[in-house]
Amino acid sequence: MIKVLFLDVDGVLTDGTITYDIYGREVKRFNVKDGYGIVRAINTGMDVVVVSGRISSQVEKRCRELGIKEVYQGVSDKLSFADRYLKEHSLTFEEAAAMGDDLPDLPLLKRVKVSGAPSDAVPQVKVLVDFVSRSPGGKGAVREFIDFLLNEPSNEK
Ligand SMILES: [Mg+2]
Repeated sequence: MIKVLFLDVDGVLTDGTITYDIYGREVKRFNVKDGYGIVRAINTGMDVVVVSGRISSQVEKRCRELGIKEVYQGVSDKLSFADRYLKEHSLTFEEAAAMGDDLPDLPLLKRVKVSGAPSDAVPQVKVLVDFVSRSPGGKGAVREFIDFLLNEPSNEK
């Protein structure tokens, strides 16, 4: 049973576009359908953990809105991070899923029980994952992956 889901931000929870406002602040756009999927996952008892290589206050804000308590930014080595996180929570990679779109996500995607990527992930990631969504990043990819995880027969133990 999948108990924890690691989510990348840029290109997964967003379309990967990084926009700056006139004050030089980063502007990111999030998808409401993804948001509802995350709320649903949390309500079923799944631990949703957002892990980003970048740092953005907007990510904090959006995650707080959705009830995601675990938000880690500026993480360069996601596999080491996940390894530590799982140990601290007495969980294993067998109970973990992850969604990512680019090369920094690969080591973690290879290690988890169920891996996912948006339709516009880089080819090296897409060939390797268990699930490729029909939607691109920031446009419902996370929602599709969560629906897939929650409906997985092997996840209904
Ligand atoms: Mg990314």
